[in-house]
Amino acid sequence: MMNDTPIRVRIAPSPTGDPHVGTAYIALLNYLFARQRHGRFILRIEDTDRTRFVETSEQMIFESLRWLGLAWDEGPDVGGGYGPYRQSERTELYRAAVLRLQESGKAYRCFCTPERLEAMRKQQAAAKQPPRYDRTCLQLSPAQVSENLARQVPFVVRMAVPQPGETTFRDELRGEIRFDHANVDDQVLLKSDGYPTYHLANVVDDHAMEISDVIRAEEWISSTPKHVLLYQAFGWPAPRFWHMPLLRNPDKSKISKRKNPVSLIYYRQAGFLPAALINFLGLLGGGMPADLEQFNLAEMAEKFQFERISLGGPVFDLEKLRWLNGVYLRALPPETLLGELRENVFGESYLRQIVPLVQERIETLAQAADLADFFFRDEVAPPPEVYLPKKRSKEETLKMSSELLAGLEASDWTHPALEKTLRDLAEQSGWPAKEVFMLFRAILTGKTASPPLLESALVFGKARTLDRLRRFLEREKARK
Ligand code: GLU
Repeated sequence: MMNDTPIRVRIAPSPTGDPHVGTAYIALLNYLFARQRHGRFILRIEDTDRTRFVETSEQMIFESLRWLGLAWDEGPDVGGGYGPYRQSERTELYRAAVLRLQESGKAYRCFCTPERLEAMRKQQAAAKQPPRYDRTCLQLSPAQVSENLARQVPFVVRMAVPQPGETTFRDELRGEIRFDHANVDDQVLLKSDGYPTYHLANVVDDHAMEISDVIRAEEWISSTPKHVLLYQAFGWPAPRFWHMPLLRNPDKSKISKRKNPVSLIYYRQAGFLPAALINFLGLLGGGMPADLEQFNLAEMAEKFQFERISLGGPVFDLEKLRWLNGVYLRALPPETLLGELRENVFGESYLRQIVPLVQERIETLAQAADLADFFFRDEVAPPPEVYLPKKRSKEETLKMSSELLAGLEASDWTHPALEKTLRDLAEQSGWPAKEVFMLFRAILTGKTASPPLLESALVFGKARTLDRLRRFLEREKARK
């Protein structure tokens, strides 16, 4: 790649759920990279995995990144000269690209059934071999292919990875990475539903959008060989690759929602200031001078150095973030703080939703606060007398609470979905539904009596409800 190529970088989140704090981290790095090099920062939505697609996710990604102040120069909502910026609107492009590869013998149709592939995978696992496609369909004659097509046998298109072979690429933080094709599977490029896989769409778009530098999380390193092979197959120059260290839990495992809130929605609703969160993310990975602890986006754009990033996984230390957020809160003029509280903790639309839930149950206005306190608290800590159902041990109750957390995590946040989740849990465990509801009530509200439970959970929101459960479990397990 020529050095004077204009800098164009992108983030490419998949709208599969709540916007992730890892996405914000990578977005920040791309943003800084573009600002420092007079480049363009692009937002592309990678929505080709239709099985994991979540309708509301894209909007939440936009809102969360805007809230953090990470504005993009091109994207589905702001336009730009390289659109459309949603992969689901670019499917023709991928099909044409795959056709090109098929015509030059670099890709082939595979008609193998899911059952055959599954049996193959099992055999390979039993023989302790890495899972890979055995290339049966690469041997099909043109006549066999035509016959399958005529019979409308479903197919995917796979890449014919040159075998034997070897390819290298450069990671700007790690240096040369070499890989033997023996370890590269004939990856699927086009799925049977006609949608491209991540690998194909990512490469086609990075090329079409003239992306100069791919800055993404370390977890994609293992995909990069596949991408490099695709660039070669198409005869396109590859972008530079920068793989950023993964954020970690304090125990060094990959950051996960089991141990940390990872949804940006949570951070926003729990009252973290965007400036504090951005500052905190900027501290991770060591790109800023070591003697600086507090800085804003503009200062980061000035002083951040990608070369300084250390590859040891930066720890996402929630305690540190809370401390830093406190520093930011204390620096606010009281009038501004009042404004923040009015907007975030006692927001008008939030209050409007809470009022009908308490109206039925109050005799004086002041009692509203007693009933609704849990809506405004960061933590409620029900003691065992409150959360333990009669005749249940603490151990089995905590186990049920874990299941409750997992169930709610997987649940849609609507009244019927919540109701079903709780009833299913009761059925599976043999607990009476009433006890499951009571336990949930205790954890969410801290009390044995509350405004209507599911309505309250709906208003309180998924991200914060899950956090409350997580913290409950942590606290009670520690007390054991
Ligand atoms: N769609 C991928 C993701 O969800 C993009 C990874 C990349 O940047 O290539 O993160």
